[in-house]
Parts: sequence; structure tokens; C-alpha cells
Amino acid sequence: MERKTFELGDIVQMKKPHPCGSNEMEIIRMGMDIRIKCVGCQHSVLIPRAKFEKNMKKVLRHANTNDENP
Ligand SMILES: [Zn+2]
Repeated sequence: MERKTFELGDIVQMKKPHPCGSNEMEIIRMGMDIRIKCVGCQHSVLIPRAKFEKNMKKVLRHANTNDENP
């Protein structure tokens, strides 16, 4: 099982889609809590890191594209 890695600016896919229909979120702030912004409707939410890691399915696009694919 690969460890989930994510960083500021990454576009991630969540397990549960946002009510607007999009399940892509951009990480716009990192810290004790993580702020993510819905790509579909631009709504942003602040969630605890542990919850984010649990709810995140995968990183769709890294902000730093150097290590995108193996
Ligand atoms: Zn949305």
C-alpha cells in the first residue's frame, strides 16, 4: 500500500463527491488542518488532516509535475 502524498496546489479526488457534482478538490492551504477548494463550484472547506487523508481517494494532478508518473 502506497502512502498518500500530497502538497499545496495538488488536485485531489475525494471518495465522496461534493454536492455540486464535482469530486475534484484543490489543496489551497496546508497545516494542522487542510483547506481544499472544490474545482466545480469554488467552495472551500477546512478539514482536519486525518479526515482529509481518510476521505481523499487519490491525487489526480500534482502541483509539481516533475514526479507525476513512475
Ligand atoms: Zn462543489
